[in-house]
Amino acid sequence: MRNESRKGRNRLTVCLPPFPIRLPRLALVLGVGGALFGIGLMVGIGVASLRLFFQPVPIVASPAPPSLPVPARDARDAPEPEPEPEPEYGEEGIADHYLRPHTLPVSPAVAEVAEEEPTQETASDPPSSPVSGSLPWQQYAVPVPPFDGSPQVAIVIDDLGIDRQRSSRAIRLPGPLTTAWLSYAHDLVRQTREARARGHELMIHVPMEPKNSRLDPGPDVLRTDMDVHTLKAKLDNILGRFPGYVGINNHMGSRFTTDSHAMTVVITELKRHGVLWLDSRTARDTVGPSLARRFGVPFAERQIFLDNENNLFHVRSMLQKLESLARRQGYALGIGHPRDATLTALKEWVPEAKRKGLVLVPVSAIVARRLEMEETGRKTAEHTPSQDTQKR
Ligand SMILES: [Zn+2]
Repeated sequence: MRNESRKGRNRLTVCLPPFPIRLPRLALVLGVGGALFGIGLMVGIGVASLRLFFQPVPIVASPAPPSLPVPARDARDAPEPEPEPEPEYGEEGIADHYLRPHTLPVSPAVAEVAEEEPTQETASDPPSSPVSGSLPWQQYAVPVPPFDGSPQVAIVIDDLGIDRQRSSRAIRLPGPLTTAWLSYAHDLVRQTREARARGHELMIHVPMEPKNSRLDPGPDVLRTDMDVHTLKAKLDNILGRFPGYVGINNHMGSRFTTDSHAMTVVITELKRHGVLWLDSRTARDTVGPSLARRFGVPFAERQIFLDNENNLFHVRSMLQKLESLARRQGYALGIGHPRDATLTALKEWVPEAKRKGLVLVPVSAIVARRLEMEETGRKTAEHTPSQDTQKR
């Protein structure tokens, strides 16, 4: 019994006491752990609250910025200085055939052409165009979609009509491009009709006297030593080579376009014909734009030559430059030539540019937009002083 009772006591002491001891321990451990967790949580919340309290400004004042109109790539471009105008067009770089003698083609008579080509408007033209008005440059403008704020790029292909094969390649490019046809090329009525049917705008590319007398600008050239009567007669003849063009630009002309007397004759004739002036800027000191402004002739200026070097790498980089300029300035105007590198680069660039949000427009759209901007600026300037007067 003693043994049993000892055993029983022992059993009791061995079996029973651990329960009351272990339960409080477990509860204690859980309780302390929970308390520590709670304290930690409260401290964490408290610290976070203090942070919120003491640092409210950066949190409140840094909402997501509004969508910037300029993509990040252009933000990198922005600090760069405005690009200088391209160096004077290296007229020495012009294709060899300009250095060879030309034979003047038999041009169709003005009246004959006018009868043959009644109008450029076709059934395929969209119904509306932002270039509205009754002047020839407005009537023959290639219609474009209404301006929606997207950067606009105009690409002019000069020197067309001589190299038939490359001219044909140029007008098969996606457009609208602006095609400038050398006044002395053959078969211009047919060539330009096809270009217009493919949606490209038309211009006459008029040979003008270069500074470098070794260069041959071709037949038809307008020279500074011509008298007013001769200049007018030559230009009027050139302006009748084919119908449906919006204006002219200069082929070479680094001497002619700096001569106020000679250029006044050209600009006033353009005004009389209701067509625009595109200054190719082959000379830094051209007087074309200032005279056009003075005489109220719509005009535009070349900003970038795409192919002073006839290689793909150079043309691609110039197109990039044109694109950046368009994004900064709202529009950009580049001139290229029917050369292999240019044609290849444009074929890949035009669809890509459209995908990237650029709008390809003809020269007339750039001219129309500049006129609208100037008109808006003029009205604002007129309005501002009257407000000031009212305030006073
Ligand atoms: Zn040219």
